[in-house]
Amino acid sequence: MQYAKIVHRLDGAGYKAWDVHGKAKEMLARGVDVILLTIGDPDVATPGPIVDAAVASLHKGRTHYTPSLGEMSLRSAIAAYHTSLSGQTVTSANVAVVAGAQCGLFATAMCLLEAGDEVILFEPVYSTYEPVIGATGATPVHVKLRPELGFHFDPADLAAAITPRTRAILLNTPNNPTGAMLSPEELEAIAEVSTRHDLWLITDEVYSNFAYARPHLSPVTIPALHERTVVISSLSKSYAMTGWRLGWIIAPPTLIPYIGNMLACMLFGQPPFIQDAAFYALTQGETEAEQMRSTYRARRDLVCATLQNAGSICCHAPEGGMYVLVDVSRTGMGGYEFGHRLLQEAHVGLLPGEAFGPSLNHYLRLSLTAPDDQLVEACQRIQHFANSLVQ
Ligand code: PMP
Repeated sequence: MQYAKIVHRLDGAGYKAWDVHGKAKEMLARGVDVILLTIGDPDVATPGPIVDAAVASLHKGRTHYTPSLGEMSLRSAIAAYHTSLSGQTVTSANVAVVAGAQCGLFATAMCLLEAGDEVILFEPVYSTYEPVIGATGATPVHVKLRPELGFHFDPADLAAAITPRTRAILLNTPNNPTGAMLSPEELEAIAEVSTRHDLWLITDEVYSNFAYARPHLSPVTIPALHERTVVISSLSKSYAMTGWRLGWIIAPPTLIPYIGNMLACMLFGQPPFIQDAAFYALTQGETEAEQMRSTYRARRDLVCATLQNAGSICCHAPEGGMYVLVDVSRTGMGGYEFGHRLLQEAHVGLLPGEAFGPSLNHYLRLSLTAPDDQLVEACQRIQHFANSLVQ
């Protein structure tokens, strides 16, 4: 039997590097003392009051269909939350509720892009972006994030990547995996290019709660960009709610009904009890989100203090987000080989940088999703293993 060509475009080039994660999970299941720092899934539980809100909602019988774009009360709460974060005034008419940011990216891409279009992606690039763009038939075009610039881009590189086919720029701030946060200079370059060439800006801000170096900066802080910007975010990281699958799209009101049709085909509405929990999180969960931020900031400081200049390896201190990039180039090994051997020999699971593109061939991504004592133990094991390679 034959499959549609899309099945090949959905197969991300970086997916192979995830086999370290699969192996680490297998070892854990066998009882091996693996410290698992591969995936960006918070180790902390979803805050109790949010869980209680969902349970109370279930008991109230909130278990039926809901509107494709989300319930009006939640759309309004998301609009208010977005306004408080960004300063952009929006209403429920700008909001679509989706099953996590990933679903938001897919629905947005399907409504904005098609075969023949080019989309600017910044490389290293989050693993699912290329398959999402590929699904639409559009072609990804890479602009390098330069390690020597702290994984920021050179505006000249962005300008050089634009062609008459360019239709959109997809950015992620704070960035997974680099931790770089969009700077005012980068935003200025993006604003200039997108306005001059009439481009969409799709901005993935799932890590906006984790801004350490300076306040989070979104393209929508520039009013002239509102008509061309789609912001995508979710509760996954900021409230430790990855499994609840609750995210949103903030877009010009003309785009929202098209997204609604797409969601009617994909989802047919999000579970009402999850929407009630989300409403609680966004209207009353500020303390929990703040707590989450300070936890990750402290973990980032702890790991970076240990690995920054650890002899045979070093790390890149992230400006935001939940990850630290570990540079293993001095060991002479690539991230993939280092990751597999580290897992087998030292029982620490890190994600090879190859998952995010060729620029990170000599890096691994360490996810800050373990308590302090485990992170310290993991850093010691990584250092010990790396030093054994260069003796
Ligand atoms: N974008 C980025 C950059 C991510 O890192 C992730 C999750 N790892 C997602 C989107 C998907 O998030 P969600 O759980 O909200 O679908």
